[in-house]
Amino acid sequence: MMRWARVIAAAGFVAAGPVLISEYIFDHHALSQSRSETRALADRYLERTETVVAESLGELQALREKQHTSCVLADRQAYGTAAFASAFVQQIGVADASGTLICGEPMGSLAQPIRLPASERGDPSVMLGILNGPKKDRQAVITLRVSEETRLIARIRRESLDLQAGPEYLIDHTTIGIFLDDGAEWMSIAENWTPEKEADAVTETLTSARYPIRIIVATSASAARATMAPLKTIVLIVSIFGGFSVFIAGLWLSWGKDGSGDVFTRAVENREFVPYYQPVFDLFTGELKGCEVLVRWIKPDGSMVPPGQFLPYAEATGLIRDITRQLMVQTVDDCGALYAAGRTLKLSINLTAMHFVDLEIVDDIRLIYADSGISYDQLCFEVTEQNPLKDLALSRTIIGRIQALGASVALDDVGTGHGGLAYLQKLGVDIIKIDKMFIDNLATDHSSQTIVETLVELGTQLGLGIIAEGVETVEQVEQLKRIGVSTAQGYLFAKPLPAAAFLELAWKMMEGEAPSASPEDVTPEKTERADAA
Ligand code: C2E
Ligand code: CA
Ligand code: CA
Repeated sequence: MMRWARVIAAAGFVAAGPVLISEYIFDHHALSQSRSETRALADRYLERTETVVAESLGELQALREKQHTSCVLADRQAYGTAAFASAFVQQIGVADASGTLICGEPMGSLAQPIRLPASERGDPSVMLGILNGPKKDRQAVITLRVSEETRLIARIRRESLDLQAGPEYLIDHTTIGIFLDDGAEWMSIAENWTPEKEADAVTETLTSARYPIRIIVATSASAARATMAPLKTIVLIVSIFGGFSVFIAGLWLSWGKDGSGDVFTRAVENREFVPYYQPVFDLFTGELKGCEVLVRWIKPDGSMVPPGQFLPYAEATGLIRDITRQLMVQTVDDCGALYAAGRTLKLSINLTAMHFVDLEIVDDIRLIYADSGISYDQLCFEVTEQNPLKDLALSRTIIGRIQALGASVALDDVGTGHGGLAYLQKLGVDIIKIDKMFIDNLATDHSSQTIVETLVELGTQLGLGIIAEGVETVEQVEQLKRIGVSTAQGYLFAKPLPAAAFLELAWKMMEGEAPSASPEDVTPEKTERADAA
């Protein structure tokens, strides 16, 4: 189930990630593209409008200089010639102060009354105005003051402002407005689209520095985005393909041999994790006191993996809970008869922080050992100090429940981990296990001796049992006895043994034979040293 979820999540991620990211990038790109198009369009219109006004005004100024300022024939001929020669001016004539045409060439009156014009910036003798009339052929006029009563006037061709309206994709999604400062509209080009139709239309307003003119250009952002559609489609197709490939690869891996996580899950399902038993002895009497259960992964090809190589993964995934349950069930099968016969034997089982997050372990213990050859008071559960317990109060409760069944609890690796004395004080354990680290130098190093002595004294004061582990030499045994430690395990006596070897040893000892003092006497773990190296 988890495997499927992981595969689907990975495929979804591979498919959706690029789509979302490219969506953002393309939209961003389209928007900045349409901003710069809009700006360029406004620039072009402003430049053209200024040119048209400047040239038309130039015609009028030239006529004024040459004294062509009345309606006499010679003047009117000059107006006609100038208008004919100009690309932008349609008609030139004389108007009164209110802008009413007195004469104009080519012939034809300015039928529409002139709006009151806006002035040229900084030059009150020049005025710009709009002829009132239907919007679609509205024209602008320029007047140049000649006297109090008369002005030269030029009517500007509407076509003068016809420009290509920007890139293809924006043509139908652009509006262009040319306004005088007083708000009068000279010209507007709008196809079917207006900026009101869109929330995020792109708008650019430019104001002329020379004339009272404003250009407003608006374009559609969604039209710009639409240009990205083919690219988006390509990314979508590629992403779907990528996601699908990951999906297929994920399926293949989780069924194939390569996904180590899933190999491990299968190993748990196949019950490849088996208990080894390391005997624990009384140092004074040589009696077998019990054993510690140590897990081994025996692969189908017969090779053995030591716990150091897989426990971190088993703990991280929580699979250690399944493994521990399987080990406990196996201990009943392996040792039920032995422990039923030897009521004083103890069996130690290692727990981890993962067992102290809820009460399930207590139920498991009850379920597995309630009607087994191993009674609760023969059981000991080891809590290691190495991995921090998440919830000390809950851990204490769980330990209390285990003790209430009649089992005991030991603090493992005392002095080497996170807990320090706090764990000793707060967890309420029954036994402390002195780590191999302190035993190693016991015969040679004074500070190790002091630490062990201190731990033993502390344990005695607190009424706790003490077990030494990792005993490898006779000298260490002598030291431990001197300090007052009576219970120990270690290679000197026996390595962790497969069930058959442990049972053989244990039955022999129960029948009164002496304990073996050398690891060669029992079947040692074949690959232990090689794997540990
Ligand atoms: P631990 O609980 O401190 O177990 C003692 C370790 O010291 C075992 O290593 C044992 O084989 C080794 N040992 C015992 N006597 C000697 C000795 O005289 N010399 C040397 N060099 N080593 C000795 P192992 O079996 O490799 O286990 C390593 C650790 O893995 C254990 O340390 C324990 O923390 C964890 N572990 C092992 N089995 C289980 C299990 O079933 N459940 C859990 N949760 N942890 C386990
Ligand atoms: Ca242990
Ligand atoms: Ca230890």
